[in-house]
Amino acid sequence: MSEENKHKMNQSFRDSIATVTQKGDRIWIYPKKPRGKFYNARILFSSVLLLLLYGLPFVKVNGNPLILLNILDRKIILFGAPFGPHDFHLFVIAMILIIISIFLFTVVYGRIFCGWLCPQTVFMEMVYRKIEYLIEGDAYKQRALSKMKWNGEKIFKKSFKHGIFFAIAFVTSNIFLSYIIGIDELSKIIQAPVSEHLTGFTAILIFSTVFYYVFAFFREQACLMVCPYGRLQGVMLDEDSVVISYDHVRGEPRGVSKKENSTLGDCVDCNQCVQVCPTGIDIRNGTQLECVNCTACIDACDEVMDKVDKPRGLIRYASLNEIEKGVRSLLTSRSIGYTVVLIILFGILTILMSVRGNFELSIFRTPGMMYQQYDSLHVSNLYDFVLINKTFDTIPARLELDGIDGEIKVIGSNLIAEPHGTIEAKFLVIIKDSDIKELNTPISIVVKTNGKNIDEIKTSFLGRIEKFRKKKK
Ligand code: SF4
Ligand code: SF4
Repeated sequence: MSEENKHKMNQSFRDSIATVTQKGDRIWIYPKKPRGKFYNARILFSSVLLLLLYGLPFVKVNGNPLILLNILDRKIILFGAPFGPHDFHLFVIAMILIIISIFLFTVVYGRIFCGWLCPQTVFMEMVYRKIEYLIEGDAYKQRALSKMKWNGEKIFKKSFKHGIFFAIAFVTSNIFLSYIIGIDELSKIIQAPVSEHLTGFTAILIFSTVFYYVFAFFREQACLMVCPYGRLQGVMLDEDSVVISYDHVRGEPRGVSKKENSTLGDCVDCNQCVQVCPTGIDIRNGTQLECVNCTACIDACDEVMDKVDKPRGLIRYASLNEIEKGVRSLLTSRSIGYTVVLIILFGILTILMSVRGNFELSIFRTPGMMYQQYDSLHVSNLYDFVLINKTFDTIPARLELDGIDGEIKVIGSNLIAEPHGTIEAKFLVIIKDSDIKELNTPISIVVKTNGKNIDEIKTSFLGRIEKFRKKKK
């Protein structure tokens, strides 16, 4: 059996995960510090993401937060635009759009989201792991420190590291909270004595502890055991998906040979790609559920290839078909299907967003009600009025009749809509009987706020039936 076929037959690595022993004990991963062009690009990209995450709560548009996700109070602001419960349909479409985009990107580009965008990877590899390298050193020093008996150095390094880890978790929890309650509310809470916000403070401490635990201890287990997206890879990827792949055609049979005319492949079996892997896998075994596409093995292997004077890219972004048949096909039936659905949904969302005004208004004659004889000269009709205010302002509304003499009398409440509030009211339209010339008279009602027309609703006014019966005779 050829070396390549032996490799294909040996699939035992799929029976267990690299971070757990046969007995079920955790194997702690000490990945070597990555370096290279992909790692540098990821540092840059992650810095932008972190800057946005920590900076956005401080950005305001006309005195309101740029982004606010206060689901409890049903107050949501996205890029300065207010949204409320009445926009639920937009959120549903947006959610479907996001999910399909992730599917599309996964079908075409594999787990690119995990490596570059996922908060778990960004915080783990670009924040927590970096601090660890800074305090404890590279992988072999970390391993040595862990094996070391507790002494002054170990106590200092470990407590210093975990202190910083918890501080980051605490700050980040507060930042997350500011996305929910707004930065102004958060700074009020911070400035007030803890005793006044004991429940909130306890909640923040719990959240910070979970956050700290995930990045200090749980780490890659979140991707391997908890993340549902990782679990779905098996059904989303196919032979044309571009993932981080080892070029087994070029690399196998692996090994080092000093002989001239060696039949060995380009892989020198140096294990560098395994040593940098934060999930502890060997990418040479093929695409695996544990691979979070962090690119560390690409950089490690490229460095080795430079040293042995072979072309870079033994590990690279490539599809299985590209490696085995030399064909890169991004336009598969699945990717086309997802793209079409994505374009349609995006079109619907754009149209709905562009026709979305600041108010939603409806006026209609109260169902089941006939005309009323208001007094000896006037006739009235009862109407229902609903106004949804989608702005941050309090809206005092005023109703006026247009094109016909008459009066509008609001029953009960005054017409004031709170920010994101709804007015539901009833009103009477009173018109002189002599001015009504037909049974169903078309009328216009203008809705004004602060002297400005915000809408004009056309409806009808029902006259006295007896009057028009007589006319017919
Ligand atoms: S196999 Fe490579 S890309 Fe995948 S997690 Fe390991 S180092 Fe990152
Ligand atoms: S880093 Fe490259 S050469 Fe070294 S073992 Fe991995 S694939 Fe082979």
